[in-house]
Amino acid sequence: MSKRPFVTKEQVEQIVRRFPTPFHIYDEKGIRRNARRLKEAFSWNPGFREYFAVKATPNPYLLQILREEGAGVDCSSLTELMLSDVVGFSGQEIMFSSNVTPEEDFRLASSLGAIVNFDDLTHLRFYEKIAPFRETMSCRYNPGGDFTMGNRIMDSPKDAKYGMTRPQMREAFLYMKEKGVRHFGIHAFLASNTTDNGYYPKLASILFELAVWLKRETGVHIAFINLSGGVGVPYRPEQAETDIFAIGEGVRQEYERILVPAGMGDVAIYTELGRFMLAPYGGLVAKVLHQKHIWKEYVGLDACAANLMRPAMYGAYHHITVLGKEDAPCDHVYDVTGGLCENNDKFAVDRPLPEIAIGDYLFIHDTGAHGFSMGYNYNGKLRSAELLLLEDGTVRQIRRAETPEDYFATLDFSPWQKSVEKKT
Ligand SMILES: *Cc1c(COP(=O)(O)O)cnc(C)c1O
Repeated sequence: MSKRPFVTKEQVEQIVRRFPTPFHIYDEKGIRRNARRLKEAFSWNPGFREYFAVKATPNPYLLQILREEGAGVDCSSLTELMLSDVVGFSGQEIMFSSNVTPEEDFRLASSLGAIVNFDDLTHLRFYEKIAPFRETMSCRYNPGGDFTMGNRIMDSPKDAKYGMTRPQMREAFLYMKEKGVRHFGIHAFLASNTTDNGYYPKLASILFELAVWLKRETGVHIAFINLSGGVGVPYRPEQAETDIFAIGEGVRQEYERILVPAGMGDVAIYTELGRFMLAPYGGLVAKVLHQKHIWKEYVGLDACAANLMRPAMYGAYHHITVLGKEDAPCDHVYDVTGGLCENNDKFAVDRPLPEIAIGDYLFIHDTGAHGFSMGYNYNGKLRSAELLLLEDGTVRQIRRAETPEDYFATLDFSPWQKSVEKKT
């Protein structure tokens, strides 16, 4: 499958007159279409809701679009809660799936009426000192061992810091039941960025079986099962598209097989997708500043790893299109770099691309989730703007670029400034 950017060279040439590169740009049409597909794929479950993982792309304009498409939010920190509150999410539209949680975060989650998803047994008593339990509470599960699909190890929950063991889940539910909690949720996140359509159904079967066991052991009402995030996207052009309908159908079959016979056909399915919701509908647009020819061929951009950390951090692949050369042969090989004083600041290594010239615009694909949000200020690099390509084809700035004033805003320069009073 070939990957085409959702903007053309001509559009970018228009956009840069108002908003210079680098910037992340998001595609409203794609976001809405995808959100609707997800809802449809799980429409067999009347209580279904997606809680968008705010950490993936914490921008109020994007949260507003997802809200209009019926999503709630999944928050894990104070500021994510504040952002969600501003956009108008409240009560059970907010899932609070945090870990190592500070008191003030729990306090705000409670006052917003969010569903609190406890990461650990010891957090229950910590939370009780801050706020009373609500009618609905949730706990995060860690089955330990390795998470396998077929004979492939997808991830190792035994090494993950999250969640509670099975006996701890039981103890937590009994404790909260005693304190008057009436509805319970179960949550687990066992593997990240899985492009295998079997991941969610496999996770669902584990959680459904746990739910049946917990109900039998504790007699509580299980109100929802939260499959969390982890559904991947095809970052590479040769990867198959994630089939959300196959995933929804796979989960439905497990639901019919495990929950329905146990008399638990009223359980709502929740998801907390981040990447799947937005990654393909965002791109980082950067301009070629320099080219150098030493032992390798380098193309240097006005963006760097501070704008998109995934390649430097995980060696993650992000496809790159040279705008205006979409159909040109990829008969050159480049390292595409940013300007950090760090040799891992490379968007691509040994990447076959069309011949590149200084001034070309590059579109780095799939930055709509875990892109801008993982940005940082190393080397004094400033965070870029975020733009939204609206359904009507116009472009709106949804976050301005940082200025040096923003970068210096937390410093106190007064010791270096001559006091006016002393002179007078
Ligand atoms: C990061 C995260 C998500 C979203 O993960 P994606 O891989 O973006 O789908 C969902 N839930 C929790 C608790 C997370 O930490």
